[in-house]
Amino acid sequence: MERLQKVIAHAGVASRRKAEQLIVEGKVKVNGKVVTELGVKVSPQDRIEVDGIPLEREEPVYYLLYKPRGVISSVKDEKGRKVVTDFFKHVNKRIYPIGRLDYDTSGLLLLTNDGEFANILMHPRYEIEKVYIAKVKGIPAREKVKQLEKGVMLEDGVTAPAKAKVLSIDKRKQTAIVELRIHEGRNRQVRRMFEAIGHPVLKLKRERYAFLDLKGLNPGDYRELSPHEVKQLR
Ligand code: URA
Repeated sequence: MERLQKVIAHAGVASRRKAEQLIVEGKVKVNGKVVTELGVKVSPQDRIEVDGIPLEREEPVYYLLYKPRGVISSVKDEKGRKVVTDFFKHVNKRIYPIGRLDYDTSGLLLLTNDGEFANILMHPRYEIEKVYIAKVKGIPAREKVKQLEKGVMLEDGVTAPAKAKVLSIDKRKQTAIVELRIHEGRNRQVRRMFEAIGHPVLKLKRERYAFLDLKGLNPGDYRELSPHEVKQLR
């Protein structure tokens, strides 16, 4: 048995607070009856309606995928390209990625069918640290690396403080491998940051997301998160 507002939030219909509001406003029915108290618990067999629409309930699942390059971070693609949920064809649940990695970016991506969990993790205030490894064109000077850390001006504003470290350089090819740790998650942010300092990204991988890494996984592999990991992320 679980609290009604939690079940509604998990289904991705609303945040938990909004779910409480919907209940109090009389917009939620359980087995055909309006429920306006917040303490009510429901079982998986109970039929729930929100604003007259039946709530589709599924057991929440949480996966960590090592996304390969050349895959869209979505549940479908109108051009017919491979999407991240193609790796989970035998999972009969409506899972979707939490945030996205570019088509050409590889690395750690979480997927779930738990709407509340996804909303929490994607909220900018949550500030989850993500670690990217970028192969960039040219060898960034120390000031350029400092600039990444202090913040660079992008079209959508200055980036928040970050950590950057040159891991290796290839003098002959004039490329460098740089680790960048950021807490924001703007669209194509890492590529745009390197572009802004004059060192375009040639290859990009997300190596860590909060305390999670890709240990033991190859591109295309995935594993379930443990209940403890899920709890730690919440
Ligand atoms: N930043 C990018 O530029 N691309 C990604 O895929 C992720 C972060």
